[in-house]
Amino acid sequence: MSTLSRVVPTGFDVETIREDFPVLKQSIHGKPLVYLDSAATAQKPHAVVDAIRRFHEVDCANIHRGVHELSQRSTAAYEETRAKAKKFLNARTKNELIFVRGTTEGINLVASSWGRGNVKPGDEIVISALEHHSNIVPWQMLCEEREAKLRIIPMNDRGELLLEEYEKLLGPRTRMVAVSHVSNALGTINPVARIVEMAHNAGALALIDGAQAAPHMKIDVQALDADFYTFSGHKVFGPTGIGILYGKSKLLNAMPPYQGGGDMIKTVTFEKTTYADLPYKFEAGTPNIAGGIGLGAALDYVNRIGLDKIAAYEHELLVYGTEALSEIPGLRIIGTAREKAAVLSFIIEGIHPHDIGTVLDRQGIAVRTGHHCAQPVMDWFHVPATTRASMAFYNTFAELDALAAGLQKVKEIFS
Ligand code: PLP
Repeated sequence: MSTLSRVVPTGFDVETIREDFPVLKQSIHGKPLVYLDSAATAQKPHAVVDAIRRFHEVDCANIHRGVHELSQRSTAAYEETRAKAKKFLNARTKNELIFVRGTTEGINLVASSWGRGNVKPGDEIVISALEHHSNIVPWQMLCEEREAKLRIIPMNDRGELLLEEYEKLLGPRTRMVAVSHVSNALGTINPVARIVEMAHNAGALALIDGAQAAPHMKIDVQALDADFYTFSGHKVFGPTGIGILYGKSKLLNAMPPYQGGGDMIKTVTFEKTTYADLPYKFEAGTPNIAGGIGLGAALDYVNRIGLDKIAAYEHELLVYGTEALSEIPGLRIIGTAREKAAVLSFIIEGIHPHDIGTVLDRQGIAVRTGHHCAQPVMDWFHVPATTRASMAFYNTFAELDALAAGLQKVKEIFS
């Protein structure tokens, strides 16, 4: 056991919390599972699994168009999640919350629907050097189609964005600034309120990719003044295939639909279709009803624990884990921003990340290895890949000791 200090914020009982996550109670290759891959997808508490099962066993029906009891129950449960998401993000009205498949679809919806109507040849879209591919490729596709230019905010060696360089990129041609709230590959927490303010001062809009922020910190879209904000259900302890796109209603009202089909119309004739009001205009087809209901249960669960408590506990895990890993000779942490979420990306001199991941797996430790869908970040740090241990509030200090011990074993095997 390490002698590093373990600070547990008052009232935070991780062992009780772990009881809510059945998946954590298993052995992998004969060792207790140490799950350190929550940035890829977070584990689901009983409450989420139960809500999804209940929908299928008790209430299952299609939503919005049914007069019968089951349809009304399903509709109410699904729409209740929209109300919960409004509260979670502190949006002004429920109409500003669009159900999407996840962050990727949220960004694609804006790039496609807003982009087509608002980006002209010679215009500029600004993103940053630490984006996930989901916040690069949709803008690249838009720029290619509209003959616009993609401009990149650079970062320093810690993985912090350079705001003075960002300022220089902004100008009369800037239409949109799209940055992540928290970097998945580095853990950097970006100063998004300032980034949005600077975009607005230049007359541009701002979209925030909240995929890695939603599980770790309180989000207030009104305080941030973000024009669009999007996150994925599965990273916030909910199911896969569901997420939320927030947009200011003035902007969403002015945008054309993203997809056509059922549920997004008011009237249809062969001559002309009129579209439904917000938010349904952007929700064509039968949605992921079970996923939406599961997401509502996940938001309730996170709120019950409290995002302030979660952030405080995870910060202690990050400090502890950073110290523990720093004691391993030859290990270099990639991403050392002063404002950082609970992500530890690292390389070990002379050992390929995939070998590290494989040896750790034999010890029951689940980490992610590779480029983390952020190849430009890897290029910037001149590494092909990293090993990434990403934490959630159900992780423990003892699990970080296990990671450090596992890495010592990796070193023994490969030295
Ligand atoms: N943005 C960031 C920062 C992410 O970490 C991820 C997923 O890892 C995404 C976007 C894409 O999320 P999803 O695959 O859930 O759409």
